[in-house]
Amino acid sequence: MTQMPSNIAGSVIHAAGTAANLAALTATHSHIFWCKMVSSTSFRTASTAVFLVFAARMAAKSWRELRARGIIGSVKDLYGFCARKFFRFMMTLPGISEKVNAEVEKTLTRMEEEMVPRGPGITRYFELPKQGWTDELVFNELHELAEMKHSPWEAGRVSGAVYHGGEDILKLQTEAYGMFSVANQLHPDIFPGVRKMEAEVVSMVLRIYNAPESGVGTSTSGGTESLLMASLAAKIKGWHEKGITEPEIVAPVTIHAGFDKAAYYFGIKLRHAPLDPDTYKVDLKAVKRLVNSNTILIAGSAPNFPHGIIDDIEGLSEIALKHNIPLHVDACLGSFVVPFMEKVYSEIDLSVSVPLFDFRVKGVTSISCDTHKYGFAPKGSSVIMYRDAKLRRYQYFLATDWSGGVYASPTLAGSRPGALMAGCWATLMRIGEDGYIESCRNIISAARSIRQAIQNEFECLYVLGQPIGSVVAFSSETLNIYDVADGLLKKGWHLSALQNPSAIHIACTRLTVAAVAELISDLHEVVTQVEMHTVAGEKKQQGDTAMLYGVAGSISTHGIVDELAVGFLDNLYKV
Ligand SMILES: *Cc1c(COP(=O)(O)O)cnc(C)c1O
Repeated sequence: MTQMPSNIAGSVIHAAGTAANLAALTATHSHIFWCKMVSSTSFRTASTAVFLVFAARMAAKSWRELRARGIIGSVKDLYGFCARKFFRFMMTLPGISEKVNAEVEKTLTRMEEEMVPRGPGITRYFELPKQGWTDELVFNELHELAEMKHSPWEAGRVSGAVYHGGEDILKLQTEAYGMFSVANQLHPDIFPGVRKMEAEVVSMVLRIYNAPESGVGTSTSGGTESLLMASLAAKIKGWHEKGITEPEIVAPVTIHAGFDKAAYYFGIKLRHAPLDPDTYKVDLKAVKRLVNSNTILIAGSAPNFPHGIIDDIEGLSEIALKHNIPLHVDACLGSFVVPFMEKVYSEIDLSVSVPLFDFRVKGVTSISCDTHKYGFAPKGSSVIMYRDAKLRRYQYFLATDWSGGVYASPTLAGSRPGALMAGCWATLMRIGEDGYIESCRNIISAARSIRQAIQNEFECLYVLGQPIGSVVAFSSETLNIYDVADGLLKKGWHLSALQNPSAIHIACTRLTVAAVAELISDLHEVVTQVEMHTVAGEKKQQGDTAMLYGVAGSISTHGIVDELAVGFLDNLYKV
């Protein structure tokens, strides 16, 4: 869902660029006329110079766009832009707009009823209690909150989401957390232990990603912040070293939406490269076309979130080195699985060769790794790594003349929770290399069983690409895959829906390992049901997934999903 707004923005910007180019061409004539009217020669020279600079910039811009998208691509973009504008306009017409709004309202009301339970037995607290509660009261209420009706993650039926290292680890984390709950990394003089733990966590992660001696990093609050930091550092580097004022990032369409967010926050243009249709890795030829003198960063994933595929990082590295552009590898999801895959595959299946994706690839300048995914650290923890300190310096923020004192901060947050760092450090030390290798083996084996079952036991399903990690994405040429997702949902399975192309995926966690056989047998039942309905051509009531992605996937209803997404976010803050 999060990708949609930026796609629209991209088309708008693109179309606006095209319009501006046309304007520039027609302006030539009026400009000559206008110049005749001005008597001062020096003024004339100055204005001609300004105009020439403007025209040259416009020409360069049009050339970049045309080279990036090709003639057919540009025409398609323009068509898509106009079609969406047209349908958006249609939806504002009297008669239609009331109907659309009523439908949207209905859906939003239903969503609110599900997300914000109200009614007898639920007390809602709108303001501070006049008098503070007793411990007992607080704990009783906390127990009820923990037991509110939720998706059954404990049984391993949720894709990704809960990266849990086992009961013992949870207990250890809670204690570590308690010991450091007042600690703040902003004050290393007061909490020297937390500073030491952070430096050590960063160092451990650098080692498993084969960083050179010069390698450095910082911890962050999660994968998204790591991607924001990598983008910011690259943007500032581009500005300092190449004078780039209109920064662009080139990344596959499968790159995490955190890059769209970075683009949105930092005023960067994100150029999405399509995939190779056979491998689902980024198409290197397309990347070459998208790279230009404004490119501040190229990015790839190891592996990506949608399909669990590792991009050709060595191929991207060649392009990056040739043009002297930084290359980021998003290993947020790969985290503590992908670095151990080489070793695990050498034991379980020699026919699988794990491609290089880390600092051993020369062009790689930064890598993000989420300790809170397969590192099993408490949520709110990730590491951003750089090949050298010079690049890391660009993410630092300094306000050395602030009236509050000399201020310096390494990442987005000011105050940072030292307790989370203690939880992370304790987890890494407790699990150790042997523990992570074992968890990698179990998780990969679970994903392999699912992949093999889908390939061998289901004629109507296919796996996207050749995933070798923890994620398996699949789809169907004959069935509506979202109906399959809704069928699984009825049986308590929460798989992730994907789009462009339509598919669903499961990200295996430690919890999935024990549930693989159940998943396959439930998938058989659901697929048989959906097949029966499809063959009979029955028009049955669509489930939520099929409905949402039906709306999202159609150009005529495109804008409606934005309304639903905003409604969803608004619901988060309803009491
Ligand atoms: C999870 C993930 C991220 C970042 O996610 P956060 O929710 O911010 O931790 C980035 N990239 C990939 C590939 C991911 O799977």
